[in-house]
Amino acid sequence: MSLRSRLTTAFLVVVLGPVLVGAVFVAAIMSHLAESREARLADSAAATVDSTLGTICERIQASAAAVALNHRSGDEENAAEMARLVVDRHVVDGIVFSGLEAAGSVEAEGVGAEAPRGAWIDCGAEIAVAPEEPIVALASQALVANPDGSVSVFTAFRVVDRNFLASVAVAADADLILQDGRARPLSVGGGDAGSWDATDVFLPLRIGTASTDLTPMYWTLTAMVTVSAICAVALASWLSRSTTRPLAELSAAAERVADGDLDARVPVHGRDEVAQLALSFNRMTAQTQTYVQALTASRDQMRGQLGWLGQTLTATLDLDRILEVILDTAMITTNAEAGLIMLVDVADAEQLLQRAGEGALGTGGPVTIRLGEGIIGSIAASGAPAHGRIVDGRFGEWSRSPAEPDARTIVAVPFSGRHVPVEPEHPGMRRAMSEDESGAVDAEDRGVLGVLVLYDRVASLDFDQGDVETLKTFAGQAAVAVENVLLHRQAQRLSLTDPLTGLWNYRFMQTSLRREAERARRYQRPSAVLAIDLDRFKTVNDTYGHPVGDQVLVELARRITSQIREVDLAFRHGGEEFTVLLPETDAVGGAAVAERLGRACADRPFKVNDAEGGRELRVTVSVGIAVLGEHADTAAGVLAAADEALYEAKAAGRDTWRIAAD
Ligand code: GH3
Ligand code: MG
Ligand code: MG
Repeated sequence: MSLRSRLTTAFLVVVLGPVLVGAVFVAAIMSHLAESREARLADSAAATVDSTLGTICERIQASAAAVALNHRSGDEENAAEMARLVVDRHVVDGIVFSGLEAAGSVEAEGVGAEAPRGAWIDCGAEIAVAPEEPIVALASQALVANPDGSVSVFTAFRVVDRNFLASVAVAADADLILQDGRARPLSVGGGDAGSWDATDVFLPLRIGTASTDLTPMYWTLTAMVTVSAICAVALASWLSRSTTRPLAELSAAAERVADGDLDARVPVHGRDEVAQLALSFNRMTAQTQTYVQALTASRDQMRGQLGWLGQTLTATLDLDRILEVILDTAMITTNAEAGLIMLVDVADAEQLLQRAGEGALGTGGPVTIRLGEGIIGSIAASGAPAHGRIVDGRFGEWSRSPAEPDARTIVAVPFSGRHVPVEPEHPGMRRAMSEDESGAVDAEDRGVLGVLVLYDRVASLDFDQGDVETLKTFAGQAAVAVENVLLHRQAQRLSLTDPLTGLWNYRFMQTSLRREAERARRYQRPSAVLAIDLDRFKTVNDTYGHPVGDQVLVELARRITSQIREVDLAFRHGGEEFTVLLPETDAVGGAAVAERLGRACADRPFKVNDAEGGRELRVTVSVGIAVLGEHADTAAGVLAAADEALYEAKAAGRDTWRIAAD
C-alpha cells in the first residue's frame, strides 16, 4: 500500500467517519423526536375525543333528565316543551317518550329527529366489542315513576352519523373511523393521517393523527453526507498528492543519484519540511558532485603524472631526472609543498646526499646529513617510515639538524636496495669513470639506499598512514630506478672492462684508440701508445701455477695505473699484454712513462700467495712505444708499430723499452 493511498485512507477515515456517525445520530434523534411527537398528538387527540364524547353524553343525559324532571312535576306540556327546547337548541337530536300511555298522556311519542334504526349506545355504558349492527345513536334514558305505578321513559339521543363524527373530529383535530357493524366503516377527516390508534372510549373509534414525514430530511441528510464525502475525497486526494509528490520527486532524484547521475536536482516547492529536505538533498548532491569532480581531476592529473613517471622510468637512465619525476609525482599525489630525495653517499656510507629537491626547502643548497643525525638521518637509519608534526624543531625523540629543512609536517620513507653484485674496486677503474658513476657504485652494497622525504602538506593538513603507503610505492620506484641505473652501469662496465684486473678491455681499447687517432689527426696533437708485455711470464705460470700468474697480472695492473695520469687509459687486451694510451704525449713523454713503469715493476718485488704461503717475485716488463701522428695515423697502425718496438725491446734483452722506428 503506497504512502499516498494510506494518507488518503487516513484522511477519509478521519473526516468522513465523524460525518457519517453524526448523520446517523441526527437521523436517529430526528426519528425519535418525530415518534414521540406523534405519540403526544395521538394521546391529546384521544383525550379530546374522550372529553368531547363525555360532554355530548352529559348533555344527552342532562336533556333526558330535564325532560323527565318536567314530566314528573306532572306537567306533560312542560316536558314536551323542554324536549322541544333541547332539540331546537341542538343539545340532542331527539327525545323518545315511552310509557306515557300508562300515565294517561299520549300527547307525543317523541320530539325531534326520528329515532334511527340500529344499535344505540347508552352513554356511560362500556362496550368492549363493536356491535353486530351499525351504531346509529348515542342515547341516555331517564325513568320517571308515575303515581299510578307505571314508569315513563324518556330517551334523549344524538344520531351518530357522518356529521356527528365530523364534529368530534374537528374538535379533536384528528381523523376518525367508526368501526361498527357497517360494511364500510364510517370515516371522517382529511385522510392525511399517518398513524391510527384505538381508543378506550365507549364508541369503537380509531383516531388517526398526522405523522411526521422524515423522508425529505433523510434526503437532505444524505445529500449533505454525499457532498461532504465528495469534498473529503477531493481534499484527501489533493492533500495526499501534494504531500507525496515532493517525496516522489525526491525519491526519483535519489534514484538517479544512486545510478550515478549527479546532475539530478529536486524541484523545491514552498518552504515546508519536505522542501527543506529537498534543499538539503540538492546541496548534498552538488557537494558530492564537486568532490567527484575534484577527485576526477586529481585522478586525471595523477594518471598523467603516472604516465609521465612510467615514460621517464623506461626512457631514461638519467638517475637525477628519474628521481626528480618520482619526487614530483609523490608531491602531487600527497599535496606536499616541498620534498627531498636523499641517497647514501659513495665515499662515505654514513652520509646522505640530496639528489632531488622541490619546493621551498630553505636550506640554501643541497642538503647533506649524516645517517642517524637530525630527523631525516634518524628516519633513514631506523629504516622505518614515519610521519607527523615537527613541533619546536622536534619530531618525536629526534630534533632537527640545522642542515635539514624547517617544516610543520613531515613524512619520510627510507628505501633500501637489493644487493647488486659489483666487482672489486680497482684504482684503474676509478680513474677511468666519472666521480658520479663511481658514487653510485659504492651505494649499491649498502642496505639503506636513501630516503624520500615530503614536507608541509597544503592547507595545514597532516600526512597520514595513507600517504606513507603511497610513498612506499614511490620510494620503491626510486629504489628500483637507482638499482636499474646501477645495474645498467654495471652491465656497461662489464662489457668494457676486464674482470680480472678491472682495466679496460680489448673492445674499449679499440674504441678509445680509434677516437684518439681521430682526435690526433684533427688537432695534430700527439698521443703515445705503450705496448707492455711481461718478461718470461710463462716461467712464472709454469713454476708457481696459473693463480699466482693471475695475482701478478692484478698487481701489474695496479702498478701501471699508479704510474699514469688521470686522463691516461690502461687496457689489458690479451693474456699478459697491456696497452696504455697517453693523450697529449709524444715519444719522449712516452719513453719517460715506459721507463717509470719498468722501474715500478723491477724495483719492488711482487708479493703473491701460493700454496706454500707468501712469496716475493721479481717481475720485469718490456715496453714498445709508438706515437699517433708520428709512427702511424690509425689505431691498427699505431698498435702494430708499438708491437714492433716491443719486439725490439724483447730482442734487446727485455726489462727495457724501445721507440718504434720512423
Ligand atoms: P717473453 O714475453 O719474455 O718472450 O716470454 P714469455 O714467457 O712471457 O712469453 P709470452 O709473452 O709469449 O707469454 C705467454 C705466456 O703468458 C703463456 C702463458 O703462460 C702466459 N699467460 C697468458 N695469459 C695469461 C693469463 O691470463 N694468466 C696467466 N697466469 N698467464 C697467462
Ligand atoms: Mg706476451
Ligand atoms: Mg711475455
